[in-house]
Amino acid sequence: MSSENISRNVRPLLIAIDGPVGAGKSTISDEVAKRLGILHLDTGAMYRAAGLYVLRQGLNPHDEAAATEAVAQADVSVRYQDGAQRTLLDGEDVTGLIRTPEVAAAASAVSKHPGVRAQLVRAQRALAESTPMLMDGRDIGTVVLKDAPVKVYLTASPEARAERRLKQYREQGEEHTFEEVLEAVNARDYQDMHREADPLRQAEDATVVDSSDLSFEETVEAILGLVRAAMAKEALHV
Ligand code: C5P
Repeated sequence: MSSENISRNVRPLLIAIDGPVGAGKSTISDEVAKRLGILHLDTGAMYRAAGLYVLRQGLNPHDEAAATEAVAQADVSVRYQDGAQRTLLDGEDVTGLIRTPEVAAAASAVSKHPGVRAQLVRAQRALAESTPMLMDGRDIGTVVLKDAPVKVYLTASPEARAERRLKQYREQGEEHTFEEVLEAVNARDYQDMHREADPLRQAEDATVVDSSDLSFEETVEAILGLVRAAMAKEALHV
């Protein structure tokens, strides 16, 4: 077999990680990708950049026609700096501007619109076309990378996720009650799982990793174990 044939038969390693808010997708995904030496695409950051664009245009992110038309004019892209994702909006690095509650709410609103989703899904697939990559989001295993050789549904009980969120808030000097945070977690879950366009759900062929009683290291190891098993079954290049 020529080397060209061999390389044609070897697919890039693609890992899809989906799950509800607070399951630790971002930090776990970062670490797994780092250990494998592949890129991590945080797709939520792209929805946040789209949300920021709509806010900057002075539009209502819930207005489907206006938001979809606006986002079609925006160039949402990413680049990697020392292995870390930078999110760009029309060439401007907006990585530091998209973590506010206002932008989160706008992202959540624009992510309901099928036209916005179609545009971002296209960009996400193009990024993964030839590069081994770990992508995290809500619809990666079900829509964006349906053929990914590794699919994980990373979850934890609402109580465990609320507890972690509460700890993060405390570290930032913000005081909230456990009940408040639990209610917010449940509300976000409901919204993500019940929207019409590409709701959060577990892909049939995804493996559930429940991190409620796992440490950070144990969760990373559980996912790396799934990657090793997939690589033993099929030639995948990193
Ligand atoms: O993950 P993060 O909170 O940054 O995502 C921001 C928003 O984008 C969320 O409201 C989420 O529902 C949406 N999202 C999505 N599809 C993805 C990633 C995020 O709808 N693949």
